[in-house]
Amino acid sequence: MSTVQDRIGRPLRNLRISVTDRCNLRCQYCMPEEHYVWLPRSDILEFEEIAALVDCFTEVGVDRIRLTGGEPLLRHDLNTLVQMLAAKPAVRDLALTTNGILLTEQAPLLAAAGLHRITVSLDTLRPERFRALTRRDAHAQVLSGIAAAHRAGLDALKLDTVVMRGINEDELVDLIEYGKSVGAEVRFIEYMDVGGATHWSADKVHPRDAILADLAQHYGAVTPLREESSAPADRYRLPDGTVFGIIASTTAPFCRSCDRARLTADGMWYLCLYARIGIDLRAALRAGASKEELSARIAAGWQARSDRGAELRVEHRDRAALLPASELRKDPHLEMHTRGG
Ligand code: SAM
Repeated sequence: MSTVQDRIGRPLRNLRISVTDRCNLRCQYCMPEEHYVWLPRSDILEFEEIAALVDCFTEVGVDRIRLTGGEPLLRHDLNTLVQMLAAKPAVRDLALTTNGILLTEQAPLLAAAGLHRITVSLDTLRPERFRALTRRDAHAQVLSGIAAAHRAGLDALKLDTVVMRGINEDELVDLIEYGKSVGAEVRFIEYMDVGGATHWSADKVHPRDAILADLAQHYGAVTPLREESSAPADRYRLPDGTVFGIIASTTAPFCRSCDRARLTADGMWYLCLYARIGIDLRAALRAGASKEELSARIAAGWQARSDRGAELRVEHRDRAALLPASELRKDPHLEMHTRGG
């Protein structure tokens, strides 16, 4: 295995694989519309195709995989894919991000299949707020799913919360306390102006400094942990030892250390969450390209990379939603739920 580097010296280590663009929630910050233009079914990669592409990616340096979506647990027999990827020695870390709705049934299967880590998105502890935010009545199922993940022994459980001013910024302490009760580390994510977030505006962002101030006011001194890592979250410790994270992509992007790329469910490869154009790996795979040819294509794509999308957004004056709904409808690949979070 060799590790390729992009034009500013960043390696390719992390691959987020979206296994479906479908979702069973309609979160205001991600999929605010009821109906979308979906990827054609025949374009969706089979598990064997995903596994074959993973072999090409590990060949050039990827050793961490996160399955995402859409909602990945909507993909039938996802545990079979987990088993296929967990069996690859080159995959040192295999994680899943889910909204948790289907986790109660699937957590034992995923654990048995060899999944290493799980992150559940949880923006509120209040069922009525959940309904307003997601337009679905499934809060109890999410909490039950989190408990099931804990019971199934899926350690290193994380809870991801998108913090939005005027929506849920008053629940930071409650979420930390809930995280403690289920053995999970909470990560607060700044509301991002990604594709899909058509209602985004700067005044709805509750930034890292405000999150830290709110928590310090309640708990006392918050200590930053000194860590060398390309992980998106900065981690902090509360006086009682509880650790939490903040992903400050909107106000303090970490493009300089970004070693992540994204593969959509139909095999388009994006080198940045904000990238307009992707590289079509499905076409090459289905045209019979060899593993060596595909690895070479991936290496060349990464070596040409200079993306730093989140940093460029910060420099943008009059920052508003990245794309209007009309433009997103023309190309579903621009949507966050297609690209995977
Ligand atoms: N359905 C799964 C879930 O809910 O975790 C996986 C896909 S979802 C697109 C992945 C992550 O992206 C979630 O944690 C979600 O909160 C985050 N996300 C989506 N839109 C976002 C936005 N505008 N700002 C910040 N995070 C966002």
